[in-house]
Amino acid sequence: MTVPILDLTRSFGEIRADVFAAMERIFDAQSFILGKEVKTFEEHCDSYLELPEGSSVGCASGTDALLLALMACDIHEGDEVITTPFTFFATSGTIARLGAVPVFADVDPSTYNIKIDDALSKVTSKTRAFLPVHLFGQMAPIEGAVKEFHERGVLTIEDTAQAFGATRLADGELMRAGAVGDVGCYSFFPTKNLGGCGDGGLVVTRNSERAERLRRLRVHGSGTTYYHDEIGINSRLDALQAAILDIKLKRLETWNEERRKIADYYRLLFKTNGINEFITAPVELDGNYHIYHQYVVRVKSKRDELMEFLNAEGFAVRVYYPLPLHLQPCFSYLGYKKGDFPVSEQLADEVLALPVFPGLKESEQEALVSKMKEFFRK
Ligand SMILES: *Cc1c(COP(=O)(O)O)cnc(C)c1O
Repeated sequence: MTVPILDLTRSFGEIRADVFAAMERIFDAQSFILGKEVKTFEEHCDSYLELPEGSSVGCASGTDALLLALMACDIHEGDEVITTPFTFFATSGTIARLGAVPVFADVDPSTYNIKIDDALSKVTSKTRAFLPVHLFGQMAPIEGAVKEFHERGVLTIEDTAQAFGATRLADGELMRAGAVGDVGCYSFFPTKNLGGCGDGGLVVTRNSERAERLRRLRVHGSGTTYYHDEIGINSRLDALQAAILDIKLKRLETWNEERRKIADYYRLLFKTNGINEFITAPVELDGNYHIYHQYVVRVKSKRDELMEFLNAEGFAVRVYYPLPLHLQPCFSYLGYKKGDFPVSEQLADEVLALPVFPGLKESEQEALVSKMKEFFRK
């Protein structure tokens, strides 16, 4: 048996006819960039995320969403942005790209998300933004921090690339990932829970002036064509992506539910196979609706051997992420060293992502977990 880490062909069947109809419509119209398709998708994102009309701004990628968000929050050279070292590179890459300084705070060992107290303790007179990541599909509990950062004049930009559709219920209030802070950034890279047929991204903000500014920044800072108010970038969502994402958005909740069922079944299988002494399953915080962009366990020892064994047996498992950002060669100028963020470093040695995607079969999960048992019991 071979089981891939992700197989998009298994869910494509149910949207195939809709996707090809949309492609025909767009090719017949020969209108490919922004336009009606993008506007419709943006409106549907506003309603899905329960944001005021006009809050959603499509762009070319999740990385650009972060870049545009930082630009629209006036993050400039020398400004400090507090963020996590345990994430995909783009979170810090975009901060550094603007000449600003990523200031890291360590993460929580059970949720892998940034530790709020640590983040708050990093504030200096140069701090301009807080950039938490809702890693692997689970929201970080940022609602209190957003207020505390505001009191210090610091804006919150959420990296929601892995959490479109994740929610959190706290103090009787239901919050949607990306709609809690000042700006939310999403990625539609094909492997994300809501993924396109190429690159794509979205920035959202409740502040209508900031939304208008984002709309200008994505077209070279131009309000009226060929008149430039400020220097922006070229980062537009295209009609094909928007139309396909719009089709997938309607199924997102069903697909996210399916991922949650897969996560539940892994938990049950770990128990029935008696391997809970060797691994730690991902923890879902009280009130959180985790959408399992990735299903990431911690392996107490011999993680790399386990990975090699499973991969050789045909089960694709992966490490997200093997080297925390504070130890990346390109960030050596920031002056961090090994030992600065012990939890992130330990996670880098212990995490292992198992297959989770709509269409994954129970028999495949069963075969994978019994292989894990075979490894630990040998
Ligand atoms: C995927 C991802 C991004 C970047 O999104 P792209 O669309 O690939 O540019 C940023 N941050 C995180 C946490 C991601 O997982």
